[in-house]
Amino acid sequence: MQADIRTGRLSEAEIESNFTDMHPPLDRPGALVEADRCYFCFDAPCSTACPTGIDIPGFIQKIRSNNIKGSAYTILSENIMGGMCSRVCPTEVLCEEVCVRTTLEGQAVKIGLLQRYATDAIIHDKQQLFRRQQASGKHIAVVGGGPASLSCAHRLATLGHQVTILNAAEKPGGLNEYGIAAYKTVNDFARTEVDYILDIGAIEVRNGKSLGTDFSLAALREEYDAVFLGFGLAGVNELGMDSDRAEGIVDAVEYIARLRQSNSKTDLPVGRKVVVIGGGMTAIDVAVQSKQLGAEDVTIVYRRGPQQMGASKFEQDFARTSGVRIRHWLAPAQLKMDGNRVCGVRFEYTRLDENDRLQTTGDSYELEADVVFKAIGQQVLWNALGDTQDILELEHGRINVNEHRKTSLADVWAGGDCIFGGEDLTVSAVQDGKIAAMNIDRFLQGSE
Ligand SMILES: Cc1cc2nc3c(=O)[nH]c(=O)nc-3n(C[C@H](O)[C@H](O)[C@H](O)COP(=O)(O)OP(=O)(O)OC[C@H]3O[C@@H](n4cnc5c(N)ncnc54)[C@H](O)[C@@H]3O)c2cc1C
Ligand code: SF4
Repeated sequence: MQADIRTGRLSEAEIESNFTDMHPPLDRPGALVEADRCYFCFDAPCSTACPTGIDIPGFIQKIRSNNIKGSAYTILSENIMGGMCSRVCPTEVLCEEVCVRTTLEGQAVKIGLLQRYATDAIIHDKQQLFRRQQASGKHIAVVGGGPASLSCAHRLATLGHQVTILNAAEKPGGLNEYGIAAYKTVNDFARTEVDYILDIGAIEVRNGKSLGTDFSLAALREEYDAVFLGFGLAGVNELGMDSDRAEGIVDAVEYIARLRQSNSKTDLPVGRKVVVIGGGMTAIDVAVQSKQLGAEDVTIVYRRGPQQMGASKFEQDFARTSGVRIRHWLAPAQLKMDGNRVCGVRFEYTRLDENDRLQTTGDSYELEADVVFKAIGQQVLWNALGDTQDILELEHGRINVNEHRKTSLADVWAGGDCIFGGEDLTVSAVQDGKIAAMNIDRFLQGSE
C-alpha cells in the first residue's frame, strides 16, 4: 500500500482561513464590556493564580479609564512577555479558572483577551515603558534565547547590567518562534515581541552559538560575572519500539518548527491518515495543525484517560471541534510496517490496577497511518552540552535550583523547561527568568 503523503492538500486561501487567529482581539467596546464584568476583588484570586503575579484587577481598571499605557506597564513590569502569554497561556486552568465570575456564573472575565488588548498597541508601536538604571559595569552571560532567557536578560538590563545572550538557534524567541501553534501567534508576533524586549538596550544577542559546541560553562564562568542557563529541552522522548526511526515516524516538535518557519504552508508534506501519540499541548497542536493543513483523518491516542492528559479540557475540546478524534486508554504496542515505512500502529488497551499502575489488558486496536507523530515529551539533550551535567546538580535529568533559581554553583542560575519542578509553560519560564535576574542583581551587589 502506497503512503498518501503530499504537499498542497489545500489551497493557499483555504490554509490561510484555517490558520486565522485562534482568539481574535477585542475592540474598544468589547474590552469595555469585559472590563465592566470585573468585580475588582480584594486579594484577587486571579492574580494569585498568575505565575507571574500580575495585578489583574489593577490593569483591568486602567483599561476602563482608558489608561492603556498604564495598564500595559502593570502587566509588562511583572511579565515582559505579557503579549505572548495573553495568546498562549492556558488561562482556563490559571487566572480564569479561579475568577469569581467563573464560580458565580460559569463565565470568567476574559482576562487573557483584556491583557492582549492592553499590550498589543504598546508592543507593536515599540512604546518604551522601561528605563535602564545606571550602568553597573557587570556583564552576565545568558544561555538560550527562549522566554526564560529573554525575561532574565530584560530584567538584568533594566537593573543596569550588560547582557550577552548566546543562543543555539538562528533566531531568538525559543519555542515562541519555533514551537507555539501558528494559530496562537499570527503575523510574526513572536519576532515583534522579541524586538520590543531587546529595545531596552544593553542586550547583545549572538545566535548560532551553542553551549557544549562553541563554548563551555567553565569558560562562561571565567569570563562573565554571572551565568543564566535557559537552554530548554532540545531532545524528544522516543516511543521505545522497534522501527522507532522508520520513514513516516515524525518528531512532532520538529514538524511544528518547520511549519512555523515555512514561507508557504502549502509546501509542507501532509499525510491523509495521521496518528499522534501523546497527551500534551504538543500532541494537540500537531494534530490540529495537521487537520488545518488538509489531513483527512487525525487521531490522538493517549495511554491514560482525559483527566490525566497534559492538555487541558479546553484544548481537548478545541481539538475535537477542529475535527480531531481523541482515543484514550490505548498504549502503542507495535508499529505496522510496509518495508521501511510505517503504515499503521497496533495499540493495546490499558487500565489502572488496584495500585493505580497502568496495565495493558491484552486486547488490541489498530489504526492505519501515513504519518505517526511522536509527541510524548521532551528532555534536556545533555549529550550536546559537553561536561555541563558533570558540574551541575541535577534531579530527574533537569537542573536543580533553589527558590531564587540558583543552581548548585554560586554564580550560575537557571530557569524555564531545563529546571526540575517547573510547569513547562511560557509564563513559568518568564517568571523563572525574572526571579533569577533579581537574585543575580542582589548577588552582584554583594547583598545575597
Ligand atoms: C509544540 C509546543 C507547543 C507549546 N505550546 C504552549 C502553549 O500554547 N502555551 C504555553 O504556555 N506553553 C507552551 N509550550 C511550552 C513552552 O513553549 C515552553 O515551556 C517555553 O518555551 C520554555 O521556555 P524556555 O526559555 O525554557 O525554553 P525554549 O523556549 O525551549 O528555549 C530554549 C532556547 O535555548 C536554545 N538552546 C538550546 N540548546 C542550547 C545550547 N546548547 N546552547 C545555547 N542555546 C541553546 C534554543 O535555541 C532556544 O532558543 C509549548 C511547547 C511545545 C514544544
Ligand atoms: S477574580 Fe475575576 S472578577 Fe475578581 S478581580 Fe480577578 S478578573 Fe476581576
